[in-house]
Amino acid sequence: MKEQIAFDRAHVWHPYTSMTDPLAAFAVESASGVRIRLRDGRELIDGMASWWCAIHGYNHPQLNRAVETQLADMAHVMFGGLTHEPAVRLAKMLIDMTPASLQHVFFADSGSVAVEVAIKMAMQFHAARAKGKKTAADRLMTIRGGYHGDTFGAMAVCDPVNGMHEKFAHLLPAHFFLDRPVARFGERLEGREIETAEKLMIRHRDRIAAFILEPIVQGAGGMWLYSADYLREIAALCARYDILLIADEIATGFGRTGRMFACEHAGVVPDILCLGKALTGGYLSLAATLTTGRVARGVSADGGVLAHGPTFMANPLAAAVAAESIRLLQAGPWQQRVAAIERQLVDELGRYADHPGVADVRVLGAIGVVECTETVDVERVQRRFVDAGVWLRPFGKLIYMMPPFVIDEQDLRRVTGVVGLGL
Ligand SMILES: *Cc1c(COP(=O)(O)O)cnc(C)c1O
Repeated sequence: MKEQIAFDRAHVWHPYTSMTDPLAAFAVESASGVRIRLRDGRELIDGMASWWCAIHGYNHPQLNRAVETQLADMAHVMFGGLTHEPAVRLAKMLIDMTPASLQHVFFADSGSVAVEVAIKMAMQFHAARAKGKKTAADRLMTIRGGYHGDTFGAMAVCDPVNGMHEKFAHLLPAHFFLDRPVARFGERLEGREIETAEKLMIRHRDRIAAFILEPIVQGAGGMWLYSADYLREIAALCARYDILLIADEIATGFGRTGRMFACEHAGVVPDILCLGKALTGGYLSLAATLTTGRVARGVSADGGVLAHGPTFMANPLAAAVAAESIRLLQAGPWQQRVAAIERQLVDELGRYADHPGVADVRVLGAIGVVECTETVDVERVQRRFVDAGVWLRPFGKLIYMMPPFVIDEQDLRRVTGVVGLGL
């Protein structure tokens, strides 16, 4: 095992790490339910759901069976010119569970690609309409503090300063950024955010193809939970100024915020919706971009096609396990579970609010965030958490958690209990 870890350290990149001075990585042997078992025999309670994904826990018998059953038929076939039951079934489920106007599905192989596809849809929609005119709307509008993925198109709408991508800023298209809303979730809007947004839209309305945002919860850009009023007002402005609204629900989708989709907190229906992460219950990489008939027809109004087609588009194994994950979610009491997790997080993380090392505590659904006053020493703090039997992965000043929905009260208490070790 030591040898494997040494090889990994010398040769294998991990997310956002250096090859010369990598952070430590723990070797995992297996995972089951809400437990991650390390090669050295230690068991960790999972507080991360593998970055929002594993909502039903690991090694779930029904999800395993869905993969195995599909595997007996086929692991993969190309999607150009071919189709299959898992893709059609999943598309139907997604169309049924999202707002009625969303009727068309593009299956991508990761969240970042789903965002690229959403951006292409919006730009092609405007370009096809503007055929013959000199310019088409080809810029985006977004909120600072956002995160939409690591590919170039997605990077260009991540936070331009604190985002992980400032190194490429000079290569990225210059989009229009608004400050993140000050008003928190549950609060009314009091600032001038909407006025500012409207002014910018009026000034550049011929250039802005779409407004892209993470509804209610800004995830990897800083875990900020903002007012539903803001989302509602931005959606209304987009409709008024003929700007498409792209909701990136890759992190928030499938119940995480207490609603199936975070847009529901504001009663907003986007023109384009990106899904990913928990889509397959954490089993395989799959994402989806949904849109309306209007946008789908608009994209091809000039006789053109949507310019995207990944090799592993609509992978049957991923589609099969996604359909089973959604079925499991819909058949179970996820609302009660997420509500119970929320109550417990409010109660147990709330106790850290007065700690001198804590700047802020915020909770929504099965998401708990403790913002520290100083940057967290990830390696040191993580080791302490692991020694205490809990898997959490802090970043920046944030110690945050989004456990599998199936975590029980006792295990969640152990997860919230270790936070103090990081302060
Ligand atoms: C994780 C994430 C992405 C990118 O998804 P990948 O599958 O990592 O490419 C995009 N948007 C949001 C909101 C995310 O949380």
